[in-house]
Amino acid sequence: MNGFDVIVVGGGHAGCEAAAASARTGARTALVTQRIETIGVMSCNPAIGGLGKGHLVREIDAFDGLMGRAADLAGIQFRLLNRRKGPAVRGPRTQADRALYKAAIQRMLHAQTGLSIIGGEVDDLVFSEGHVAGVRLNEGRILSCAAVVLTTGTFLRGLIHIGDQRFPAGRMNDAPSNGMSATLERFGFQLGRLKTGTPARLNTSTIDWASLEMQAADDEPSFFSLMTDRLECRQISCGITRTTPATHDIIRANLLKSAMYSGAIEGVGPRYCPSIEDKIVKFGDRDGHQIFLEPEGLDDISVYPNGLSTSLPQDVQLEVLRSIPGLERVEMLRPGYAIEYDYVDPRELELSLESKRVSGLFLAGQINGTTGYEEAGAQGLWAGLNAARRSTGADPVQISRADSYMGVLIDDLTSNGVSEPYRMFTSRAEFRLSLRADNADLRLTELGASYGLIGPARLSRFRMMVDLLTHARELSRSLTLTPDAASKHGLSLNRDGIRRSAYELLAHPGMSLARLAKIWPELGSFSPKITELLEIEAQYAVYLERQGASAVLLRKDEERIIPELMDFSALSGLSNELKQKLKARQPRSIAAAQKIDGMTPAAIALILLALRRHSDTKVLADVEIRGAA
Ligand code: FAD
Repeated sequence: MNGFDVIVVGGGHAGCEAAAASARTGARTALVTQRIETIGVMSCNPAIGGLGKGHLVREIDAFDGLMGRAADLAGIQFRLLNRRKGPAVRGPRTQADRALYKAAIQRMLHAQTGLSIIGGEVDDLVFSEGHVAGVRLNEGRILSCAAVVLTTGTFLRGLIHIGDQRFPAGRMNDAPSNGMSATLERFGFQLGRLKTGTPARLNTSTIDWASLEMQAADDEPSFFSLMTDRLECRQISCGITRTTPATHDIIRANLLKSAMYSGAIEGVGPRYCPSIEDKIVKFGDRDGHQIFLEPEGLDDISVYPNGLSTSLPQDVQLEVLRSIPGLERVEMLRPGYAIEYDYVDPRELELSLESKRVSGLFLAGQINGTTGYEEAGAQGLWAGLNAARRSTGADPVQISRADSYMGVLIDDLTSNGVSEPYRMFTSRAEFRLSLRADNADLRLTELGASYGLIGPARLSRFRMMVDLLTHARELSRSLTLTPDAASKHGLSLNRDGIRRSAYELLAHPGMSLARLAKIWPELGSFSPKITELLEIEAQYAVYLERQGASAVLLRKDEERIIPELMDFSALSGLSNELKQKLKARQPRSIAAAQKIDGMTPAAIALILLALRRHSDTKVLADVEIRGAA
């Protein structure tokens, strides 16, 4: 069969989530990727999650996506980052065994009903009556469909740089994809160039591990998936070392040989994940930069030196490495490199991730100017869902930034575009007290179920968890005591005579269910998951009430849709500068218009007035039409 509802192009992190999400909703889906054996490959660091990114993985999991389950199956060093800070900014992370991660993703995709996996390179799109109708493979075959999700990652006109060497590639050992760039240009898409880099890989047997400080995994792993019950892999430690003054001298002396500094690279790199050359130029006066030596798997001789991304020539890379304690005799398995690639300005996209220019074409992942597996996976899932809906004629769905990091990501991209590779941080979310990693299921799984994204096993496990949490919440609210009674149990409260519930007491600093179970033993019987959820929820309850009102306002503004062809130049009272910005950005909601730089409350009021007039006119027109009938 070569007719599908949805075709996903690219088997990276965006493509895998897109294909699985589309198929989960029941759409006949094909995943077309250059090489089937590279599906689920981690192009760079062997880790999933981290600050902000861990939230995205939990959200992907809450929608029954793949990434969280695969990371749990392949996790070889689970660590909860920011453990000592508040729950809202804690970031679950695991180092992953590369081979196990890829195998887990491939297993899940092969087991997905309604999904065909096809090896081949797509080099053009097929159209019918102005709508995407299929893809053409470079060997000439045409596959037809109602919607396409393009997730080509770093492959569009990819160009690798190592010192003054450069060659076309999508990543090391993979061919670039050039045809699709030409297709996108033909349709008038704005393409830009970005770059990213990766460090050399090291042979573990040539590292002096005994001389290094080691960092172990957490005693209690924080899993990503609600569906995970137990640890699958042996946990390992990473080594920690630092660059030295000698390292900095070598880099300074060879700076002009780095592709980054010789002028060979035109693309903009990620500010938050700089190359070692950048770190030395910008912060070289520091006495050293920390390097984590992360094994890439349990049975893998390869080690990833996190913090040493570079585009220096190969011989200089080795010199740099050997100036670092513990790496004096190190051998490289492969050099580090930088890669430049085309991306599409994400302001070309609707909040559904469908392109504004080409009906039925969705874009997700690094092609939209982001960096990272998690950012790619989150967009992929949303684009896959909307592409499937598009194929059945259902309305597109958008996700609010008041409800998820996924919403923050998509809204930031489509409203503001990118000037450098975009990565997620908790600071990007205005409602981060409620958008916590621990409550992603509670925020999103029922929403996912309403879109048909959630399988029966997860739904029943989720609903069971909600029942248990509801019971625990009600119980803790029903158990009360006076300040006098509390003092008999060693709790000092304000002597105001007011009874407080166990739930309210949980918000007090240092309080826990274990401590309250000494007063009310029934509170000690909850599972660790329910205990964690209840403690955090109670702790944040007061703040969340305050935040709730602002979230409602934001959702309302997001729902106030601006018509596609609104003529902003006709709005009298708006400055010419704002008219031009509005015309260029074409915001689709009041929330998006508010984010345009220089936007004022008065200008928003004018737009709202025009919208009201527009809807009144529409109502009048409807009345007239109905009257005529
Ligand atoms: P990719 O994972 O790149 O997958 C794209 C897929 O599309 C591939 O399977 C490819 O074969 C396929 N494909 C491409 N074109 C076609 C076509 N025409 N037809 C069929 N199939 C096609 N992220 C970080 O967070 N931090 C980092 O430090 C970092 N450094 C990186 C360094 C390097 C050198 C590279 C290559 C990537 C780095 N990344 C980093 C980025 C991370 O790998 C990506 O963000 C992530 O993999 C993007 O996922 P994706 O699904 O968009 O694309």
